[in-house]
Amino acid sequence: MAVKDEFEFISKIKPKEIFQDNLLVGIGDDAAIYRPAERMEQVVCLDTMVEGIHFLKGLSSPYEIGYKALAINISDIAAMGGIPKYYLISIAIPNSWSEADLYCIYDGLNDIAAHFRIDLIGGDTVGIEDKLVISVTVLGEVEQSKMNLRSNAKPGDVVFTTGSLGDSAAGLSILLNKNDKTHTEDETYLINRHKLPSPQVMAGRLITKLDRASLNDISDGLASELYEIAEASNVLIKIDESRIPISSALLNFKENPYEYALYGGEDFELVGTISRDSWNILKQECEKCSIQITQIGEVVSGEAKVLLTRENETVLLEKSGYNHFKK
Ligand code: ADP
Ligand code: MG
Repeated sequence: MAVKDEFEFISKIKPKEIFQDNLLVGIGDDAAIYRPAERMEQVVCLDTMVEGIHFLKGLSSPYEIGYKALAINISDIAAMGGIPKYYLISIAIPNSWSEADLYCIYDGLNDIAAHFRIDLIGGDTVGIEDKLVISVTVLGEVEQSKMNLRSNAKPGDVVFTTGSLGDSAAGLSILLNKNDKTHTEDETYLINRHKLPSPQVMAGRLITKLDRASLNDISDGLASELYEIAEASNVLIKIDESRIPISSALLNFKENPYEYALYGGEDFELVGTISRDSWNILKQECEKCSIQITQIGEVVSGEAKVLLTRENETVLLEKSGYNHFKK
């Protein structure tokens, strides 16, 4: 593997600063020890990124790969309304990657970790033949009995989403189709939305403080996430295409923005449902924190499906989503 001296490597990537007071033992022993906070549930998730499937070395820098690997996991904690606290890394390194590249991956990890004040508390380093594989586990916590489950949606709820949708897929399309050219300001914005996602932890926290919500982060596209909520909650979801928030950069982009918003995926925004009373509070709270949040539809009783209104016509939304393994 590209790492010559594993002990030296681990000592170099060991964080210089610790953010969490409840971390008792970090990197350096057989396992980490932290003290869970009282009256909190522990939330944990893991996501893996594989070279050639989730990223291409030619399109993303090692820094961006590290940043995104952690961002997508923080996004899962945000979708449970949790506070991310700690993370662990498992990295399988082929010879084609230099040690300098690896430190750049950790620079990306460190930057987003510092932003959310989460600590790297352990990991594993192994060699692999061909492609780099990076797995990230994030540990967090959420108040007891405050879980924003997919199965929480009820008829009468408002359907909402944070941020703008479709940017990431448009960014990827630009990268794949005109990577050699210089990019306009709009294109750079879309590319950065793809490479450096912003997990919506603060929005997740505001939602958690309210009564009941169903919540998902948008990794596989809005359509797919809405179906997950509709099926888990056994409700009918109706959305209005013209209400889906689209950035000005995506509007300026030539291709159909709604295709990207519905089926593109990797936006890492939040989509969910909440009672009308809570929605009015949530909207105000988000405004105070400068968080973009938009009502895109409503929940009604009926079959577990998603309906889309487009120019006065209501159609059954196609369920397909972004799937790395389907070509
Ligand atoms: P052990 O043999 O006890 O599993 P290791 O030599 O694998 O110990 O790891 C030593 C310490 O370094 C442990 O705290 C482990 O969690 C941490 N560690 C190992 N690899 C990584 C990595 N790639 N990123 C972060 N921490 C790591
Ligand atoms: Mg080990």
